Amino acid sequence: MTATASGDSDPLIVSGDVEEFGEVEFGYVTVVQHLCDRTGHVPHPEVLFDEKKALGVAAYHPRRDELALDPAFLTLGLDFAESYAFDGVIVHELGHRTEPGWIVLRRWLFWASAVVSACVGLYTYARPFNDVCAVLMFIALLLFLCIWPVSWNAEFRADDYMCDVAGIGVAVCTFDLLAACNAQSSVTHPPTSLRLARQLRRAKLPHARRNRESILRRGGRKK
Ligand SMILES: [Zn+2]
Repeated sequence: MTATASGDSDPLIVSGDVEEFGEVEFGYVTVVQHLCDRTGHVPHPEVLFDEKKALGVAAYHPRRDELALDPAFLTLGLDFAESYAFDGVIVHELGHRTEPGWIVLRRWLFWASAVVSACVGLYTYARPFNDVCAVLMFIALLLFLCIWPVSWNAEFRADDYMCDVAGIGVAVCTFDLLAACNAQSSVTHPPTSLRLARQLRRAKLPHARRNRESILRRGGRKK
């Protein structure tokens, strides 16, 4: 199922095998476009509902400038699209869009590690294991381990963007949603508790005073 909208003037295209969600998809995409407008992300990224590309809840893909959302959102109805938690999910992804270099680097590290590992496999297939293999294995391991700090840094910085733009209230609701979804700590994502603790700490800093008024607030719409 897909629902795409690539800009203000572009027609919204809704398609898929679950027709009853068409109107809900349209509503979600409209909300995402509104959030893009309020945060200066114009032209908008392409918004699509794709479980694979969403990689869990949501994901931004810089190469095609796509913001992928889990179709499960649609089952929650349009009320959820108006929630602080959804705001936070989207603004976090827009944080990745603000600094796409980190996720591009993460992807390169992953593929570089995979390619070097494959080279080791091919080399050892033709010859006995030797020092060259050991060095290549070490490089592959090093590249893989580099994914960890690069990826965690990317996530922390996207959280910082979310909190600075949308406010600590939105951030707390978003982390609460992630906890409810059982978001697990991994090489690519820090634990939710650590992410929340970082933003609570940042909210106490003097520069966080602007968070008292979220720029996303629109009278009477928020839940
Ligand atoms: Zn992220």
